[in-house]
Amino acid sequence: MRARVLIVEDEIEIAELISLYLKREGIEVTQVESGEDGLQKLEKEAFDLAVLDINLPGIDGFEFLQAARKKSAIPVVIVSARDTDEDMVLGLGIGADDFVTKPFSPKVLAARVRAHLRRFLDSQASAKKFIRFGPFNLDLEGYALQKE
Ligand code: CA
Repeated sequence: MRARVLIVEDEIEIAELISLYLKREGIEVTQVESGEDGLQKLEKEAFDLAVLDINLPGIDGFEFLQAARKKSAIPVVIVSARDTDEDMVLGLGIGADDFVTKPFSPKVLAARVRAHLRRFLDSQASAKKFIRFGPFNLDLEGYALQKE
């Protein structure tokens, strides 16, 4: 799977560990250590998923997520030592797709990332093959126009 993942994590060892497991899956990884850097990256480059820590220097993961959601619909997997119900409800409520608590199994995290990527990339691909307007469906691959 050729996909690009942004890791926003200030603990380098954890970022490296996640990175290692994702690279094994053939995923391209970019690491940043703050939410501000993460937002800049999102602005300039295309990613298919973000792995996000909550306790960060500067803006925290929740603030990053709120800002990121204004311009990006990519899946976001939170990986955090904060494991209260409130943190999870807040994270998922403002747009995270998954919440993994530290300590975590990098193997299981990589599997979750892969699952989210698969769904996201599939939905992107099918959205590209068809253009809908009113009752019409234009199939770009079959060069067919259908009326519903
Ligand atoms: Ca942290």
